[in-house]
Amino acid sequence: MTSITSKICVVGDFAVGKTSVVERFVNNHFSDKYLTTVGVKIDTKEVTLPQYELTRKLVIWDVAGTDRFGAVEYAYLRGASGYLFVADGTRPVTLKAAHDLHDQISQRYGAAPSVLLINKHDLSTQWDVSPARIESLGDTHDEVYLTSAKTGENVEAALSRLAELITDRELKG
Ligand code: GDP
Ligand code: MG
Repeated sequence: MTSITSKICVVGDFAVGKTSVVERFVNNHFSDKYLTTVGVKIDTKEVTLPQYELTRKLVIWDVAGTDRFGAVEYAYLRGASGYLFVADGTRPVTLKAAHDLHDQISQRYGAAPSVLLINKHDLSTQWDVSPARIESLGDTHDEVYLTSAKTGENVEAALSRLAELITDRELKG
């Protein structure tokens, strides 16, 4: 099997669960503690895509949460092959933040594969996001997943899908 390394960036508002999603994906672990990410945290994990006969090593950049990106945040995104946008279903304002970030990033760097995670689905009784809203987000992002870093729901599926989208794009040239 061939192995290829790709950089992906995890972006979204404060406290939506960016670090927790990465921690679930990389170490299959969850913590209730909230430790603000300072600057950027980098992890790696391999994803096997049997249909392409390749392993993709994802270098995951967990970028400090912000709704507006400045020069420093943009510099972190340089060379990204794809993006994981994260929002929090209990705070609809974070969906707007993810949408705006997507606009800003694509204006700056052009289109790239993008998967949106609406996280904290384990708290779905506290969600305030209509099915219509979720569907409309599919116009902005290549894929939308309802996830929980706490239970692990859809975390692996979303990351694998992003790796697939990146592969599809590279094969198309
Ligand atoms: P970040 O600022 O986007 O990196 O957010 P964190 O990953 O640090 O998470 C912020 C807070 O939300 C922490 O207290 C986490 O434990 C909590 N959290 C993250 N993901 C989930 C989830 O899927 N479900 C629940 N219930 N809490 C979560
Ligand atoms: Mg964080």
